[in-house]
Amino acid sequence: MVKIGILNLQGAVSEHYDITQKAVKNMGVDVEVESVRYAEDVETCDGLIISGGESTVIGKLIHQRGIDEVIKNNDIAVFGTCAGMVLLGKKTDFDQPLIGLMDISVKRNTYGRQKDSFESPIEIFGKEYLGVFIRAPALDDYDHSKEDIKVLSVLDDEIIAIQQGPHLAISFHPELTEDTLVHEYFIRGVIGRN
Ligand code: GLN
Repeated sequence: MVKIGILNLQGAVSEHYDITQKAVKNMGVDVEVESVRYAEDVETCDGLIISGGESTVIGKLIHQRGIDEVIKNNDIAVFGTCAGMVLLGKKTDFDQPLIGLMDISVKRNTYGRQKDSFESPIEIFGKEYLGVFIRAPALDDYDHSKEDIKVLSVLDDEIIAIQQGPHLAISFHPELTEDTLVHEYFIRGVIGRN
């Protein structure tokens, strides 16, 4: 059975767990959702979701626990939101451990501090969606020579959602809405690879 892990180290983990369960139910698919904390739990996953939170903290723990190696060695599809987006990149504007699965560089806190958090309608997959931005990053740049990179959403000239192969990086928080659209997209991609 396909298994999606929700990386439970720090940040908005339970919200992702709940909306992933909801997405699986909506889709009527046979997918197991599990909260994972250590490399050996991550190893058995086909897809992994990395929540928002503090990317420096999450990145340090990922590295200490060898979770980055397990992700790469097992070709696990990763969906990162907010801090998760930062971690998926190869570069950011701060010296911190990253997983570097995607050929992107990410600007942390593009939209300012906690008090500058906002909600805005955005468009993704041809649909209107509510973007919740909390100390959100945006894309700095990506490797334009990579044919497997697809920009999924732009807001006021900033790239806020991008895909490379099975990996998905988005700067906003779908787990804080009721809408399972983005989670369903990721899950469908993971099922398609298995
Ligand atoms: N700015 C945070 C970071 O870079 C991310 C904020 C969030 O995940 N809500 O770690």
